[in-house]
Amino acid sequence: MHSNSSQPTVAIAGGGLAGLAAACALSDAGFRVALYEKRPFLGGRASSYEHPGTGEVVDNCQHVLFRVCTNLVEFYQRIGVGDQIRWFDQMNFIEPGGRISVMKSSFLPAPLHTAPSFLHFPFLTGADKLAIARALVPLTLAAQRDNGQSFRHWLDQHGQTTNAIHRFWRPILVSALSEELDRISISAAAQVVRESMRSPQARQMGVPKIPLTDLYNAAGDYVRARGGDIHFRCSLESFITDEKSVQLRVADSEQTFDYLVASLPFDALARVLPEAPESVGLRGKIKHFETSPITGIHLWFDRQISNLDHAVLLDRTIQWMFHKSRLQPMRMQESLTLAMNVRSGHAREQYESTHAVKGADSETTRATEGGSYIELVVSSSKSLIDKSRSEIVEVALGEVREFFPAAREANLVKSAVIKEVNATYSPRPGIEAHRPGTVTSWPRVFLAGDWTATGWPATMEGAVRSGYLAAEAVVRSAGRNARFLSPDMPARGLMRFFP
Ligand SMILES: Cc1cc2nc3c(=O)[nH]c(=O)nc-3n(C[C@H](O)[C@H](O)[C@H](O)COP(=O)(O)OP(=O)(O)OC[C@H]3O[C@@H](n4cnc5c(N)ncnc54)[C@H](O)[C@@H]3O)c2cc1C
Repeated sequence: MHSNSSQPTVAIAGGGLAGLAAACALSDAGFRVALYEKRPFLGGRASSYEHPGTGEVVDNCQHVLFRVCTNLVEFYQRIGVGDQIRWFDQMNFIEPGGRISVMKSSFLPAPLHTAPSFLHFPFLTGADKLAIARALVPLTLAAQRDNGQSFRHWLDQHGQTTNAIHRFWRPILVSALSEELDRISISAAAQVVRESMRSPQARQMGVPKIPLTDLYNAAGDYVRARGGDIHFRCSLESFITDEKSVQLRVADSEQTFDYLVASLPFDALARVLPEAPESVGLRGKIKHFETSPITGIHLWFDRQISNLDHAVLLDRTIQWMFHKSRLQPMRMQESLTLAMNVRSGHAREQYESTHAVKGADSETTRATEGGSYIELVVSSSKSLIDKSRSEIVEVALGEVREFFPAAREANLVKSAVIKEVNATYSPRPGIEAHRPGTVTSWPRVFLAGDWTATGWPATMEGAVRSGYLAAEAVVRSAGRNARFLSPDMPARGLMRFFP
C-alpha cells in the first residue's frame, strides 16, 4: 500500500490500545491506515473473549481508569464510547470480617480533599496516619527522581510503620503498578500519588459498562469508517526500510507503506527487528525489561453476596473485588435472557454454539439468576503462578467468605481463573532510562506501546499516550503538524502552587 496518490499510507502493527490510538489519530490526519493484529480481536492486553470453560464472555482482567487519564478519556470520546464508562468517587476498603471504610472527596481543596475520610480510617492507628501524612508531603508536592533505589527503601527511610506499609502503601501501589514495593522505583510510586492528588476529580475511578473488546471494537469501526483496514490473525514478521518507505512481511506476504508504527509489547518487537546495526541500541534497551503477572479470578454465586460495586480487600491475597453483575447489568441481563431461551428449548442449539457449553445444564444457568458475578484481582500475583486453577479458586473463595458474610451461605455456581503471566512491564528502579522514545534510527519507523517513554506506567493511559505521540511523530515526518496529545488535568486547590 505504498502511496501512489497524495494520501500517505501507514501500517500499524498491534491492535492494543497503543496501536488503536495511533490508527484513529492518523486516520483523522488523512493517512490511509492498515492495522495488523496477530489475534482475532482488538484490545490486546485489555480485551474480552468467550471463556471456554464457563461459556461466559469475560474480560481478560478488570480494567479501571482514573479521570486523570486525560488521553484515554479523550480517546473514548473520540471513538464514541465515552458514555460506556461509569465513574465512582468512592473507594471502599474492607478488612477481613467485613468492616468497611470509605474514602471519598470532601469540600477541602486538593490535596486535602480526602483527608477527612483518611483521618477516620479505623484500620490505621494514629501513628500510621501521622507517618503516612509525613510521607505524602514530599511525594505530593514535587516529582521524585529515580535514584536507583526502591520505593520500599524510601518508605523505610521515611519512618513508615508496618501497618502503614501493608494497609496503605501496598494496596494502593501494588494495584496501580503491579509490582512489589521493593521492586518499584521512587519516581513511579511518586507519579501515582501526585497524579491522584492533582484535584478531587483526578481520583474518580472509571469502570467500563461493557466488555473490553466491545469498547475497543469501536476504534476498529472508527478506522474503517475513515477508509482504513483492520487485518486480524496477521502478524508482522519482519520489516526492512529505507529513507522513503517500509517493506513489511505480514502473514506470508510483502506490503510496502510510507510509514510503520510498531505498537507491540517489547518482546514481540525484539522478534521483528531487522538484523542490522540500527537495531542494536533498541535491543540493548529491551534487554532491561521484565514483566510482572496479574491474576483475575471470576466467581459466579447463586445469590447476592454484597451490595458494593467494588472494594479494596486488605490483609489477604485478593486485592480488589469488582461486582461485575452490578457494574455490567446489561451483560447479566443478556446472560439471563440466553439462559431462559435455553430452558424454553428452542434456542438451546444457538446458545450452545455461541457459548461453547455443549449440554449446558439448565440448573446451572438458572442458579445465576439474581446471583452475584464477581471478579477478584491480584496484581503482582507471583505467589499464584504455580498454583492450579482449583487451588486458586479455593483460596479466593475462602477469602471472599471472610470479607463478605453473605457469601458464606452462597453456592459457587462456576468459576474461571485467568493468569496473565506477562501482564505489565516491571517499573523497577532504573528502568525509566531504558524506555525508548517513539522516534527510531529508521526515519520511517516509529514505536508505541505502554513500555515506551510516555512518563506514565504500564496503563491504558500510557498506551494511548504512546499511540498519540507516535501519530504526532508520523505527521511531523510527513512535513505537517498535528497535536493529538491531550493536556494534563489542571491542578486544583492548593496543588496549583506546586506545578
Ligand atoms: C491483567 C491485566 C490487568 C490490567 N489492569 C489495568 C487497569 O486496571 N488499568 C489500566 O490502565 N491498565 C491495566 N493494565 C495494563 C493495560 O492493559 C496495558 O498497559 C495496555 O493495554 C497495553 O496496551 P499496548 O497497546 O501497549 O499493548 P498490548 O495491549 O499488548 O497490544 C499489543 C498488541 O500487539 C499484538 N501483537 C503482538 N505481536 C504482534 C505481531 N508480531 N504482529 C501483529 N500484532 C502483534 C498483540 O496481540 C496485542 O494485541 C492491565 C493489564 C493486564 C494484562
